[in-house]
Amino acid sequence: MDYNPSRTMFTLNAPSTAKEVKVRLYDSCSASRPSQTISLKRIGVNRWAGTARGDMNGKYYTFDMGRGECPGPFAKAVGVNGKRAAVIDLKTTDPDGWADDVRPSIATPSDLVVYEMHHRDFSIHPSSKSQYPGKFLALTEPRNLWYLNTLGINAVQIMPSFDYATVDESHLEEPQYNWGYDPLNYNVPEGSYSTDATDPATRIREFKLMVQALHSAGIRVILDVVYNHCMNIEQSNFQLTFPDYYFRMASHLKGAPGDASTKGGRYANASGCDNETASEQPLMREFMLESVRYWVEEYHIDGFRFDLMGIHDMETMRQIRSMLDSIDPSITIYGEGWAANPPAIDNDICAMKASTYKMKGIGAFADEMRDAIRGPFADDTKPAYLAGMAGHEESIKFGLVGGIRHDGVDMNKVNYSKVAWAAEPSQHVSYVSCHDDMSLVDRLRASIPDIKDDELIRLDKLAQTLVFTSQGIPFLWAGEEVLRDKKGVRNSYNSPDSINQIDWNNLQKHPDVFMYYKGLIEMRRNHKAFRMGSAELVRRNMQFLPTPDCVIAFTLNGEAVGDSWKRIVCIMNSNRKAATITIPEGRYTIVCRNGMINLQGFAHTSRSKVRVAAQSAMILASIV
Ligand code: CA
Repeated sequence: MDYNPSRTMFTLNAPSTAKEVKVRLYDSCSASRPSQTISLKRIGVNRWAGTARGDMNGKYYTFDMGRGECPGPFAKAVGVNGKRAAVIDLKTTDPDGWADDVRPSIATPSDLVVYEMHHRDFSIHPSSKSQYPGKFLALTEPRNLWYLNTLGINAVQIMPSFDYATVDESHLEEPQYNWGYDPLNYNVPEGSYSTDATDPATRIREFKLMVQALHSAGIRVILDVVYNHCMNIEQSNFQLTFPDYYFRMASHLKGAPGDASTKGGRYANASGCDNETASEQPLMREFMLESVRYWVEEYHIDGFRFDLMGIHDMETMRQIRSMLDSIDPSITIYGEGWAANPPAIDNDICAMKASTYKMKGIGAFADEMRDAIRGPFADDTKPAYLAGMAGHEESIKFGLVGGIRHDGVDMNKVNYSKVAWAAEPSQHVSYVSCHDDMSLVDRLRASIPDIKDDELIRLDKLAQTLVFTSQGIPFLWAGEEVLRDKKGVRNSYNSPDSINQIDWNNLQKHPDVFMYYKGLIEMRRNHKAFRMGSAELVRRNMQFLPTPDCVIAFTLNGEAVGDSWKRIVCIMNSNRKAATITIPEGRYTIVCRNGMINLQGFAHTSRSKVRVAAQSAMILASIV
């Protein structure tokens, strides 16, 4: 849809062989009959267009090529529940000062401190005292921005915020919840997060207000994008405008048709959601490129987290990278370098984690470090390093260097990867928990059955110390800093608020946990040695020390990268008893010990042996 006051142009990719392609215009979102129907003309191969004369602002429309009406894949505005597209003048949705909105700068993706959040989780609990609980606008409230600034994060990764299917926007008074991994309209903000889902302009304006407010607080906005599948095939914009083009067919799978991954259906199912899109198809690739560009240009988005990125082909991801480079190379891309089932294209051309080194400027979530710290994704009750089990150290070290080749890491002992998959540490997303699993607190309780509260807090802090001293991109799931739990639910995608909401009263109960996270973030942001940003610098300036089981120790040469801390020693001990470690000679300030951080230092030491308390980290900095 391309609007101007004297005419609106409609274009659509649909098969050249279609008998006819129509646009139906409606006076309202609920009008039972169109006020006007326009037959589109074929203007090129698989390309159709038509024009409505006059000022169409405020009208609704659908495309119809004989299979049913839909807003079309590139709808930019929609009515309630995304059933009909809307003609609007996008310029009127810009907040005051939008033209002066500036992207907060970073030198490398390792400078990011990513905070993954769901709009409802963050502000729905009464303790959040939000004026706009569960809405985009909650992230414009000074109180909430102050909180994020105090914690110190500099990027929010907002969980699916495009228009998704499962929450009924016409009945928001009823309790509803979904993560939003069920895409409907990829290029329109979700209605349930706006204050008025029935007015197409409101959600757009409020989304922009959110981005603007975050930017003015120095916080980047990373969008969680889910191009790998649709809510369902038959009702999707893709299928209704170009049947069997955008989805991979089961017949492309190497296995027998009807094998487990396709549930016997016609369509391949790498997403586990009954379909998978075909990024290698030129129009799908073009769609993804245009969609990403649109979010950057129209909404000033600063980065993208690709859901099940392993389903997409590498060529598409590379083209997206190079398109973004032409706009601003600092716009971040990372994603899940895996799929739920094998994709129906050759694995070698998929954007899988193992191929990350072939995709410059694109990162992947690291499950090696995550699972080595807390235990495997597949079994919540299985413990690992945090439980004081030896054998996980090498996988964690691989995460600490940022997934790159490093002489100090014996790849043969790393859990899932025998070859370093990142070319640069900024391609490695370091984390211990995210939305898609138990919270760290729940996980610790599930995997260490007799765990006591004080032990849980010690291990929680130890886990995040590993994340925040990693040379990769540190990633924090919102609420972990206040010991959020989900009452043991791991896949809470449609669980009620009572499971998913963050209870901010926890902040008063455990201020030391918040202060520790804040300290970790501040330490990282103030000291470049923790985020050197290049593989060469990390290989040269990060060394591991010999240690007993369940102890990991390394030094960082801060001087070499211009850090005021000339040498840093980090020691992590998950044993249930203290460990004594020999460190390089020097005069050190102890900035982290026994579950507390003080960047000015607790004490000085010149000893060559230091004692690290049970289940805790010690960090020493030498300034001379
Ligand atoms: Ca929706």
